[in-house]
Amino acid sequence: MTGLPVRPELVGEVPYGAPQLDVPYLLNVNENPYPPSDAVAAEIATAVAAAVKTMNRYPERDAVALRADLAAYLGHGLTADQVWAANGSNEVMLHVLMAFGGPGRSVLSFAPTYSMYPEYARDTHTAWVTFPRRDDFTIDPVAAVDAIHDRQPDVIFVASPNNPTGTAVPSETLRAIATAATGVVVVDEAYHEFARTGTPSALGLLPEFPRLAITRTMSKAFAFAGGRVGYLAASREFVDALRVVRLPYHLSAITQTVARVALAHADELLAAVDRLRANRDDLAAWLADSGLQVADSDANFVLFGRFADRQAVWQALLDEGVLIRVVGPEGWLRVSAGTDEEMAAFKAALDQVLKTEE
Ligand code: PMP
Repeated sequence: MTGLPVRPELVGEVPYGAPQLDVPYLLNVNENPYPPSDAVAAEIATAVAAAVKTMNRYPERDAVALRADLAAYLGHGLTADQVWAANGSNEVMLHVLMAFGGPGRSVLSFAPTYSMYPEYARDTHTAWVTFPRRDDFTIDPVAAVDAIHDRQPDVIFVASPNNPTGTAVPSETLRAIATAATGVVVVDEAYHEFARTGTPSALGLLPEFPRLAITRTMSKAFAFAGGRVGYLAASREFVDALRVVRLPYHLSAITQTVARVALAHADELLAAVDRLRANRDDLAAWLADSGLQVADSDANFVLFGRFADRQAVWQALLDEGVLIRVVGPEGWLRVSAGTDEEMAAFKAALDQVLKTEE
């Protein structure tokens, strides 16, 4: 960016994103490895063909039918006007900061956490404030409440399960945070479906806290990352604030159509979640047996370490065709739970690395 009058805080910045490489084993961005069945793919293709016939018109601006389907999918008595949708939950959270953040305002989160949060903050001129998690990546509720009282953030983001650590946040901690907050609180449940059974969703807290919002995505458990649909549940007033800041027609006719067909097949698209959960647990156990440190995970990935040179380990795995992610605190790496074949390839490649390190 030589000589262009870009905003000073963007000088030297590079676009966010993990490397997209053409290798056999993609375990770096927490996707669901199972593509839609031929039957679902055919139904989507038919719906797209019909939608294309109206392509001269703008799409339904408020995506009401899609939001109604998402509300029905979430349950909890939610209706379309309490649900928001956008191009991925990344865009949903950008809308949240456009509406509730901004110059002179701040957003607080618990580090280490999802590395896009500071980017939405930067892009909306919202101050980014972090409070540290404990060594096991859990949040100390008493210290969190003190920090909230102290910093008075306008927005709080809590990822549960957290990325990149996989840590789920207990309801009591979320309740303490929401009670202490004077601004809005967003619980990012991008990985909720992978949580161990019995882990409640924060959706159950919505009636108690009018300033609470829960975000979800179709990108992970739902096996629909390419569809780019994320969504949020909150009060109607909260959603109305997001409607003010969105661009008109932000969800294309194709996106809305495709997402609705996918939601009609939710059971099928979510069918692999149990298997991925089991593979996640097996992976965590295997890593621990291999003598590594492993963060307790309720998501479809595992953070493990610690390595003196994590970049070298990442590269050695890549040399074997296994792509994982360099993310999290120094010394740690993150690997997504995948198919049995992907897990076997990862284990074989890492075994090799660990042997050469000995
Ligand atoms: N939240 C968390 C914690 C994530 O890890 C991700 C994706 N990596 C997202 C939100 C955004 O996902 P999407 O925009 O695909 O919905």
